[in-house]
Amino acid sequence: MTSVLSDKRFHDEEAAYAWVEARVWPEGPICPHCGGMDRISKMGGKSTRIGVYKCYQCRKPFTVKVGTVFEASHVPMRFWLQAMYLMISSKKGVSSNQLHRTLGVTLKTAWFMSHRVREAMKIVGIKPLGGAEKVVEADETYFGDRDIVVKRTKRGKSGHASKRSIVALVERGGGSVRSFHVDHADKATVTKIIAENIASESYLHTDESRLYTDAPLHVAEHHTVVHSGEEYVRYERDRTVHSNTVENVFSVFKRGMKGIYQHCAEKHLHRYLAEFDFRYNNRVAIGVNDEARADRVVKGIVGKRLKYKISH
Ligand SMILES: [Zn+2]
Repeated sequence: MTSVLSDKRFHDEEAAYAWVEARVWPEGPICPHCGGMDRISKMGGKSTRIGVYKCYQCRKPFTVKVGTVFEASHVPMRFWLQAMYLMISSKKGVSSNQLHRTLGVTLKTAWFMSHRVREAMKIVGIKPLGGAEKVVEADETYFGDRDIVVKRTKRGKSGHASKRSIVALVERGGGSVRSFHVDHADKATVTKIIAENIASESYLHTDESRLYTDAPLHVAEHHTVVHSGEEYVRYERDRTVHSNTVENVFSVFKRGMKGIYQHCAEKHLHRYLAEFDFRYNNRVAIGVNDEARADRVVKGIVGKRLKYKISH
């Protein structure tokens, strides 16, 4: 029996770089400065840092870290791979405190690393959810107090306005989830999210909220289930009308946040949502194991160099 953690990439810096390079550059190294793929040589010699290449077209050196979430970090690659593996193999996530203790890095570094890994988990340039004969559920939820001060309305109630709003879409039957932290879950916002993320041939299932019922939605059919009438599931033709899948996604998120992460600043909420979405979209139930998940997250490091510092 071999422990997963005995894999060379977790202990040997050369092996760690080689593992990342094989995934980020499946066709061989690409110069991040000029985009060239020819006339690139690996730099050798004792004085050279591990993973350095030189492009003889633009004459600049680079490593696989350039232009990724790892850029400008001095954390050894093998530590990044350890952090990623812990985060993708645990069902509920890993706190910065846990990473700090397990990796032996400072708490601040652990915090920084976990946010960058979340950034790698974010989906970019994706095709819309749903399609012909497919059901997508949409719903909104409120979680935790907003960090900004919310003006009370004339009626003296702030209600949902003082809470952080989340909108999520889930394609039923082995599909993916996409969650959004929005300023206000109002009609304009949900309509835009639906138009941009759901294929127009889809069937949309929501609750009876006026956010969805009064809005023009670009979908084939829209069905609602009336919670207030104690009608949680309804059968319409051959499709069951419910929004249980998306509600379940929300409950996993809320339990996870309370159990593992406790406090999160509002400006970072989108990253935690990306982490929970990633976990759902790469779940065992649809045949994604830990190793495949590690592959997917490392492919997600590309093109996400953060141009600003992540602060608490
Ligand atoms: Zn170049």
